[in-house]
Amino acid sequence: MRIGFIGLGIMGRPMAGHLVRAGHEVKGYDLKEVAFGGRFATSVADAVRDAEVVITMLPADPQVEAVFPDIVANAPADALYIDFSTITPQTSRRLAEQRKRTLDAPVSGGEKGAVDGVLSIMVGGSEEDFQAALPIFEAVGKTYRLVGGPGAGQFVKAANQLVVGGTYALLAEAIVLMEAAGVDAEAGLDVLAGGLAGSRILELKRRSMLARDFTPGFRIDLHHKDMGIILDAARTAEVFVPMGALTAQLIAAARAQGYGSLDHSALLKVVEGLSR
Ligand code: NAD
Repeated sequence: MRIGFIGLGIMGRPMAGHLVRAGHEVKGYDLKEVAFGGRFATSVADAVRDAEVVITMLPADPQVEAVFPDIVANAPADALYIDFSTITPQTSRRLAEQRKRTLDAPVSGGEKGAVDGVLSIMVGGSEEDFQAALPIFEAVGKTYRLVGGPGAGQFVKAANQLVVGGTYALLAEAIVLMEAAGVDAEAGLDVLAGGLAGSRILELKRRSMLARDFTPGFRIDLHHKDMGIILDAARTAEVFVPMGALTAQLIAAARAQGYGSLDHSALLKVVEGLSR
């Protein structure tokens, strides 16, 4: 398929690379020139003209809203539009109201999941558009499900980020506790990873956290944005998420302390600071 791909950052670049390797003709665009294996376009308009599928993988609502008018104006009207960005459900719904064949398809799996082409993808939109998007999802993901109409993918992503943020906060507390007690935290985390406390986060991140290597990954700034989406989604659904609210405050503190551009595992620095 002919694909226009906007946003070639930590996630978008490897995803666009997988689409090229799967045999698609990909024109990519970002504010700064990026080598991804396909052709780099000169503008959003250049990337999406003649596209059968338009993809965005941008930081947040303002960036998606900024490029959307260019997509509407320049992409063929029947092109399928897949927004992989994590944004508010309300914005996803608004885009779907303004343009037919629009899917919200936020992802989970982190940079490693994008590089390995094994992302989890939660999709909101119509069954027909979901079916049409399967070759794209197959190239970048491993688990993909249609979870409801427009915006539904973003609600599932909010649930995902609730669990991810909370898990990091508790893992940070576990590390601080073990280190303060003078036990072998590395061996301790190996045992945790093999038991009921085990998780993908523990598996992928325990070594870098112990080494205080907070190279992103997923930036604190982006998780802060996601915590806002979660609290807003909870208000909309009229449910109480006290653990989520606490995690949101810890992530806000990480940002306020200047860690916004570090990986979200840098929550450890905040938790550590509270015990010093
Ligand atoms: P990123 O900041 O690395 O990449 C975003 C890219 O968009 C940047 O290269 C930026 O230059 C580009 N961009 C911004 N405005 C633009 C515009 N107007 N036109 C063209 N390009 C523009 O962010 P990321 O980590 O790749 O995350 C992208 C999205 O995926 C976010 O919504 C994030 O929440 C979500 N996400 C990230 C991860 C992760 O681990 N990094 C995991 C799952 C989901």
